[in-house]
Amino acid sequence: MSLTAAKTVHNAWPGLIEAYRPFLPVSATTPVVTLHEGNTPLIPVPAIAAEIGRQVQVFVKYDGLNPTGSFKDRGMTMAISKAKEAGAKAVICASTGNTSAAAAAYARRGGLRAFVLIPEGYVALGKLAQALVYGAEVMAIKGNFDQALEIVRQMSETYPVTLVNSVNPYRLEGQKTSAFEIVDALGNAPDWLCIPMGNAGNITAYWMGFCQYHEQDRCDRLPRMMGFQAAGAAPIVAGHIFPQPETLATAIRIGNPANWERAIAVKDASQGQFHAVTDAEILAAYRMLASQEGIFCEPASAASVAGLLKVKEQVPTGATIVCVLTGNGLKDPEIAMQQQGGQFHQGILPELETVAKVMGF
Ligand SMILES: *Cc1c(COP(=O)(O)O)cnc(C)c1O
Repeated sequence: MSLTAAKTVHNAWPGLIEAYRPFLPVSATTPVVTLHEGNTPLIPVPAIAAEIGRQVQVFVKYDGLNPTGSFKDRGMTMAISKAKEAGAKAVICASTGNTSAAAAAYARRGGLRAFVLIPEGYVALGKLAQALVYGAEVMAIKGNFDQALEIVRQMSETYPVTLVNSVNPYRLEGQKTSAFEIVDALGNAPDWLCIPMGNAGNITAYWMGFCQYHEQDRCDRLPRMMGFQAAGAAPIVAGHIFPQPETLATAIRIGNPANWERAIAVKDASQGQFHAVTDAEILAAYRMLASQEGIFCEPASAASVAGLLKVKEQVPTGATIVCVLTGNGLKDPEIAMQQQGGQFHQGILPELETVAKVMGF
């Protein structure tokens, strides 16, 4: 018997910097730090489309399938590669969790130290576990995200550490590639792009991506940008700072967004809309995605679908809509256990008959 060489069945995805190099501020000498992030699936969600009716097509861009489980990887491959190119030895960020996980993974892979400031008690367990295992130096402050961001901003001005929050311009450059992927998959831009907003960096990045592709004639239209905040942390919607933001969607528990003005500019330029969704609406969308579509995202991500359902009367007939699912459900097992839709029967005797009885036979 002779061995035959395995055939290549597909070209391996090289990571978003290699895939979209001409669109990104990198040169041949930039040391690319990658975990082959990006290329996440655009998944049809027929049960959600059926809620709207009118021959609407709805997809989710499941960015929770990135290497550390959130879209933050898209920004971090760029931010860490550029920090390394500039000779940085350490990076710092404030984080509601996902930024710290991504910063830690990419910094360590690139051989840099990663310092992380988090609001004590308000970071989902999965995210904290990741940052620690990846080898970040984690500091939990008795304050909220906005206070943590203020400290790391000043820190990076005074000490030799590079700031990798979304105020770092390279983050948005990396994150805009998700818009490229959506257009590449659909053959055009969607009619609506629904997205959760925390610091509003991601909505800004998506708009950059759609506009860049539009200028290059890769799509012949631009989407309306529909941004959604949690009702207890809705400064952009309400038009004022929330000094004490509160929501169980901790990834968007932000009272004073860093990209506030840019988000307003995106809304105006795209004829978009911003709305607030309650925690109850977020959880209803979260459960619906999991139990009817088989897609497990974290609560903050479900704000995009909750928001779409909230304004469903406005959806034009035949529209194509993409909801961004920013993070993976496994990030926040505690919320999942409180919300699980299935029935969890415990303390059952290990007998066939008893189990069958519980099953209803
Ligand atoms: C960071 C994050 C957001 C918010 O993104 P912004 O760019 O801050 O608006 C939403 N969802 C998840 C899961 C996140 O990690």
